[in-house]
Amino acid sequence: MSEEATEERADEADGESADGPAVPQEGEAGPHSGAGHGEPDKSAKKTEDAPQPGRAEVSNYEIVKHWFGVAAERLELPEDVGAVMRSSYREVQVQVPVKLGDGKLHVFSGYRVQHNGARGPYKGGIRFHPEVDLDEVRALAELMTWKTAIVNLPYGGAKGGVNVDPSKLETRELQMVARSFMDKIEKVLGPTRDIPAPDVGTNAQVMAWLMDEYGKLHGHTPACVTGKPIALEGSYGREAATGRGVVQVLCEAASQIELDPAEARFVVQGFGNVGSWAARLMEDLGATMVGVSDASGAIASEGGIDAEKLAEHVREDGKVGDFDGSTDKIEPDDLLALECDVFIPAALGGMIHKDNAERMRCRMMVEGANSPTTPSADSILNDKGVTIVPDVLANAGGVIVSYFEWVQNLQHFRWTEDEVNERLGKIIRRAFGEVADRAEENGTPMRPAAYELGIERVVEAASTRGYI
Ligand code: NAD
Repeated sequence: MSEEATEERADEADGESADGPAVPQEGEAGPHSGAGHGEPDKSAKKTEDAPQPGRAEVSNYEIVKHWFGVAAERLELPEDVGAVMRSSYREVQVQVPVKLGDGKLHVFSGYRVQHNGARGPYKGGIRFHPEVDLDEVRALAELMTWKTAIVNLPYGGAKGGVNVDPSKLETRELQMVARSFMDKIEKVLGPTRDIPAPDVGTNAQVMAWLMDEYGKLHGHTPACVTGKPIALEGSYGREAATGRGVVQVLCEAASQIELDPAEARFVVQGFGNVGSWAARLMEDLGATMVGVSDASGAIASEGGIDAEKLAEHVREDGKVGDFDGSTDKIEPDDLLALECDVFIPAALGGMIHKDNAERMRCRMMVEGANSPTTPSADSILNDKGVTIVPDVLANAGGVIVSYFEWVQNLQHFRWTEDEVNERLGKIIRRAFGEVADRAEENGTPMRPAAYELGIERVVEAASTRGYI
C-alpha cells in the first residue's frame, strides 16, 4: 500500500441515570462466572500483600454486562441481536507451562478472548496479573469492541491474559511465560486477525518477545503486535498515548464543569503506564497532583506532588508509598476522599464501588482504567453531580496510537511523535464531541451515550456483512 493509501485509511478513522436493567448485586453470578477454568498458579513465589481498598460488589464482567443492557434497552435492540452482541466470538484458554528458577514446572492459565470482529481485526491488550481469569478477560474484550467503535477505528475487540504475577519473576522467567503463551495462541493471531498490545503487567519489552516468537513461526511480522519498543518498529508516542488521551478528553470535558485544566487539582489512583503519563502531562499543563497511589500505598500533599520526580523514582524500582519529599502517607481508601477537581482512576477494575463512592470529593472523574467504577458507584457519583468521562472513551488513546503503529508497520514507515500526537488529539476530540452531543440530546450521562454509539456501529457493521 502506498503512503497516500495509509494516510487515507488513517484519515477515514479520523473522519469520523438512565433506566436499565437492575444493577447486579454481590454474589450474583453472571452467565460467564468462569467456573471450571484454570486456577491461578499459587506455587510460584508468593505475591506480597498490598493494601487493597474494599472489594467491588460486582465483577468486571457484570459491570460491562450492565452497561450493555442499559444501552441495548434504550436502542430497543432485538433480543436475538443482543444475544450475538453480548457473547464472545471465540474464547481460547491455554496451558502455559514454564520451568522457573526453582527448577520446577509451573503451569499458568492463558486466555485470549475475541469478542466481536464485525468492524475489523480483533484488537486488545494482554494482561499479566495473578487475578486474571476468563470472566475478566471476557469483560475486557467486550469493552474493546465498544471502545474501538466509539472512536471509529477499523477494529473489533479482544483481550488476553496470563494469571501470573510478573513482579515475582526474573526477566528470563517472564520472557519464557510470554513466549510460551504466544506459542499456544499464535494460530488465532496475526495482522489481519487479531493484534495484541500491552496492558497491566506487560510492556514494550513483553511485546518485543511476543513479536519475536510469532516471527519464528510466520517470518518477521511487526504488525502482529503493537506497543513495541521504538527499536522494533514501535510507534513514537505509543507509550504515553493512553495517558495523553486521558488528558486530551479531560481538557475537552473541563468546560462542562467550568474548570481551567491548568488550574486543576487532581488525584491519580494507580501510577503505572496510564497514571504516570496522565499525571506528567497534567503537570505540563500547570495542574497540581494532590494525591496518588499504587499497589504499595498512597500519598497526598496539599502543595502538590512532583509527577516527573515520582515517575523517575518508580522507574528506578521505587514505590509510590516510599517516595519521600514533603508528602503524607495516607490509607489507600482515603485517597478517594481527597478534595480535588479531577479524580483519575488508572489502576484496576471495580476500585470505586458502592462502599466507597459516597466518600469521593471530586467534581469530575476521567476513567483511565478499564471498568474502575461499579454501576452502583456510578449512580452514587451521578447523584452527587460528578461528571464522568467513561473508560470506553477516556482511555482509548492507547488503542488509537496502536492503530497508528499497525498502519505504520503495514507500510514499513514512520510518523514523527508530533504527527502521532496531533492525529490522536483529532480522533479522540471528535469522539468526545460525538459522545457529549449524544448525551446532551438524550439527557443522559456520557457513559450510556458512548455505549449506544459503539453498539450501534457494531450492529450496523455486522448486519451489513450479513453476519446477523
Ligand atoms: P500498569 O501495570 O502499568 O499500572 C497499574 C498501576 O496500578 C500500578 O502502578 C499498580 O501498582 C497500580 N495498582 C494496582 N493495584 C492497585 C491498588 N489496589 N491501588 C492502587 N494502585 C494499584 O498498567 P497500565 O497499563 O497503566 O493500566 C492501568 C489501567 O488502564 C488498567 O485498567 C488497564 O486495563 C487500563 N488501560 C491501559 C492501557 C494501556 O495502554 N496501557 C490502555 C487502556 C486502558
